[in-house]
Amino acid sequence: MVSPSVLSSALNPEEQRIPFNQSHKLADLKMDGSNARGGSGVDMFLPNYKLGKTLGIGSFGKVKIAEHVLTGHKVAIKILNRRKIRNMEMEEKVRREIKILRLFMHPHIIRLYEVVETPTDIYVVMEYVKSGELFDYIVEKGRLQEDEARNFFQQIISGVEYCHRNMVVHRDLKPENLLLDSKCNVKIADFGLSNIMRDGHFLKTSCGSPNYAAPEVISGKLYAGPEVDVWSCGVILYALLCGTLPFDDENIPNLFKKIKGGIYTLPSHLSPGARDLIPRMLVVDPMKRMTIPEIRQHPWFQARLPRYLAVPPPDTMQQAKKIDEEILQEVVAMGFDRNQLVESLSNRIQNEGTVAYYLLLDNRFRVSSGYLGAEFQETVESGYNRMHPSEATTPAVGRFPGYMDYQGIGGRTQYPVERKWALGLQSRAHPREIMTEVLKALQELNVRWKKIGHYNMKCRWVAGIPGHHEGMVDNAAHSNHYFGDDSTIIENDAASKSKVVKFEVQLYKTRDEKYLLDLQRVQGPQFLFLDLCAAFLAQLRVL
Ligand code: ADP
Ligand code: MG
Repeated sequence: MVSPSVLSSALNPEEQRIPFNQSHKLADLKMDGSNARGGSGVDMFLPNYKLGKTLGIGSFGKVKIAEHVLTGHKVAIKILNRRKIRNMEMEEKVRREIKILRLFMHPHIIRLYEVVETPTDIYVVMEYVKSGELFDYIVEKGRLQEDEARNFFQQIISGVEYCHRNMVVHRDLKPENLLLDSKCNVKIADFGLSNIMRDGHFLKTSCGSPNYAAPEVISGKLYAGPEVDVWSCGVILYALLCGTLPFDDENIPNLFKKIKGGIYTLPSHLSPGARDLIPRMLVVDPMKRMTIPEIRQHPWFQARLPRYLAVPPPDTMQQAKKIDEEILQEVVAMGFDRNQLVESLSNRIQNEGTVAYYLLLDNRFRVSSGYLGAEFQETVESGYNRMHPSEATTPAVGRFPGYMDYQGIGGRTQYPVERKWALGLQSRAHPREIMTEVLKALQELNVRWKKIGHYNMKCRWVAGIPGHHEGMVDNAAHSNHYFGDDSTIIENDAASKSKVVKFEVQLYKTRDEKYLLDLQRVQGPQFLFLDLCAAFLAQLRVL
């Protein structure tokens, strides 16, 4: 039962809520970190890394920045004190979880490169991100605009979905464990220890802020499945949108009462979509709580969903099968045996060669960013192959893959809100050959374009104008078929505007030496874009 005073404070509006601030970061401060040595002992066990300053202090020791000597890339190294872990009888759990995490590869989950064990410590070498914790970001900015909050939330949900798909429940999702990279992308961190949070006793006595914990977790229920992550994501979404916590109280028993009773208030500034979504995630009964697939389908989540996140995440086995030839050669050039390296990579064995390989691979995707963000290419492609395994070996330009169906042309009703129409074609032909064919087809269709890069163009097409549309003259006269700056396009009458379709064409290189051609509508009526796609495919003799 809920006491009247708690209830009245819950029913009372906004000023009753305690703002989101540093006092909510209960964890870690009381930890001594005595295990984290920076001296020669560490150097002996970690000869491949140059250790730097401390990035953060966690429950089991420090997290330090380091440089991977072979590749020069920065990493974060978490130092876990074995004695501490053993005291808590966590060693086995930690080890098991680390094993699973080593296989994880997702744009919004911190990568784990290697684990080095010494008699006293366990060093967990991970991807380093430099923009700090989402926690500090919220503390600094206060509540976020809905679009920004949604962007973070979509990334978090996609990472969490990936974990669940790979049978891992995080169990300790909170803004302190959500890190930001230089582009303000979320990276879910602190997985290895998540399992140990499973019982309420540990949570209450050892570390961590309970504000994000689901009712069944603080009640000490032994089983905690994906539903507990959904609850935490609900609290995080609330914190992003409101700048305060839904459940808060300086008195822990009171806090627990609020959580178990699901007692919180929704501020009036929330949009109807967010107002609908949050309470569905903060349902006390775990069986009635929204699931990740349901969150995905919620209109608030669907709005402005970036395309790479609209694709369900790949599973780890599929990712392990792909080996990047260029990166492989780079590592071989460092003096590693090619065959051994291939074998280790296929079997997901950790050694110096594979660590170098993954560091190079991740950093390559990070620096180059195409128009959809090249670092997410892996997810897009793997997702594609997963959805359409029969298309994975499409031999040349000329097959019409099921991608269109998936991206919306076939009318998948789950993704209707603000989805951009898109179409993909895969080919093994030489990229220059593909582009030549593409340009020929576009020219035949009187499409005008501007090259953004070798394999990326902005295009504009006016429907219903026959053969000698002025665009054709331009196309014939200039090698650059651009239609001019957007600002120079004169579209003073609505009728002509409704006939204009703007879209982008981009050729991607996929991992297995194939190329993926992608058309994405930017502006203009969707049905016209479909007409154009059909005509384009006909030109390419695909249909
Ligand atoms: P704990 O399990 O003890 O909470 P975390 O993994 O959350 O440990 O790490 C503690 C802190 O160290 C984080 O909150 C963050 O500030 C910093 N940190 C951890 N991992 C990284 C990383 N990969 N890159 C940058 N900073 C990190
Ligand atoms: Mg943490």
